[in-house]
Amino acid sequence: MSGVNVLDIARRRGFFWPSFEIYGSCAGFYTYGPLGALLKLRIEKLIRDHYVNKERCLLVEAPILTPEEPWVASGHVESFTDMNVECTKCGEPHRADHILEEKTKKSTEGMSLEKIVKELQKVGVKCVKCGGALGEPYDYNLMFKTYIGPGKSKITGCLRPETAQTTYMPFKRLFELGRKKLPMGVIQLGKSYRNEISPRQGLVRLREFSQAEAQFFFDPDDKEKNPKFDQVKRKKVMVVTKGDQVKNKEGGMMLIGDVVKKKHASEWIAYLLAVSMDLFQKMGIDGKRLRLRQHKDDERSFYSSDTWDVEYMSDTFGKIELVGIADRTNYDLTRHQETSKQSMEVNIEGKKFVPHVIEVAYGIDRPVYSAIESSVRKDGDRVYFSFPPTVSPYQVAVFPLVKKDGLPKMARDVYDSLNDAGFYALYDEGFIGKLYYRQDEAGTPFCVTVDYDTKKDQAVTLRDRDNQKQVRVKIKDLADVLGKVINGQIKFEKAGKLLK
Ligand SMILES: [Zn+2]
Repeated sequence: MSGVNVLDIARRRGFFWPSFEIYGSCAGFYTYGPLGALLKLRIEKLIRDHYVNKERCLLVEAPILTPEEPWVASGHVESFTDMNVECTKCGEPHRADHILEEKTKKSTEGMSLEKIVKELQKVGVKCVKCGGALGEPYDYNLMFKTYIGPGKSKITGCLRPETAQTTYMPFKRLFELGRKKLPMGVIQLGKSYRNEISPRQGLVRLREFSQAEAQFFFDPDDKEKNPKFDQVKRKKVMVVTKGDQVKNKEGGMMLIGDVVKKKHASEWIAYLLAVSMDLFQKMGIDGKRLRLRQHKDDERSFYSSDTWDVEYMSDTFGKIELVGIADRTNYDLTRHQETSKQSMEVNIEGKKFVPHVIEVAYGIDRPVYSAIESSVRKDGDRVYFSFPPTVSPYQVAVFPLVKKDGLPKMARDVYDSLNDAGFYALYDEGFIGKLYYRQDEAGTPFCVTVDYDTKKDQAVTLRDRDNQKQVRVKIKDLADVLGKVINGQIKFEKAGKLLK
């Protein structure tokens, strides 16, 4: 939004900032402050609750630090690389494909290292830092390595570059726990690590980042039809198919039902895309800035039969991929079966096969950033975040009008009762105008003020962040009324006696 520096407010109000600041920071690492950590927690919870409760996924949590073998099996040790090119004068590393894209304004998606080397020589790209000549680009592995154990017994350890493989490894055990039925969904949330070459995009490209990855396991003959598809087929979304991109077309608005009818995607993939669009909008991410984009044949992993992203158009960082949904076939399970010599085959009524997987891979930090950017509002001098109460760091803040005459005690009691009722509540004291201002910048949707009249009418003033209207509500009804306003069961203006 024009005139408002989102990154500046985010830092000042304690959403996030570069880590290790007192030692001069280190690129690709960010610390979430009190508000950002809560926002992130609630966004993770929204995703986790959807997949666990609505899609009936099993929840797992595996180690981040692993031996190296699983990543040999998955192909990461050999080919999880980016192209690095260093300056011959100052040594600054650059992502070869990115600096070529910046120079030519053309996509390098699917280009081989040889082709990138040729193109870089042709257009004559120099170091962005000092203007020096660049060296020879080479493939650089993005995995962080360390050691597990001491002395001669030590083995190579890797920080996982994705959660997915750590969910695939115990597949057989999970299949037993899921009572040997397919399709079966499993979700894992947690940190992953990629030693990015030159991360300069804040929360969008991190060396340590959070993910939520759901894996759906299928009988390969039964991975098209989704029983809940009718629930989403009338949802209208911006769609860019691989065909559009080959013809250099922008894509257009389409019903989810038509994405399947026109054979762009299976019901399962289209359903999971629609679910993701819904979740992003529940986080307060602007739906008009979201689009579904199918990967072109030359950009897809060789083992994947279809891949889609949901992309967000950011003011600051351009196109951001928020989730990737891919049909990974039986590639990963087969690789683990071959390398570990442990069978990944299932036997369902005499039919033996290695299941296929459709993966839904969310970054968490990117949706957090996109929600912050989408929610900044400017209203005269007032700047606030319009986070929906489903994800806002706090849902309600409680203040006494003044710090005397017993009002703080009464306000604390109101705060305690809201906290006990399960709201994300906050208590604060000070000059009332300043308290409102501070909660606007934190994106708190509702404020409650205890004043002198409270002693007489046993009621408080409830204020709405977005329209700044105020209603008077009895303390005994407050939790019930607030819950109904948050769920949309009643309009704010009807929540109590409207104050002028
Ligand atoms: Zn240089």
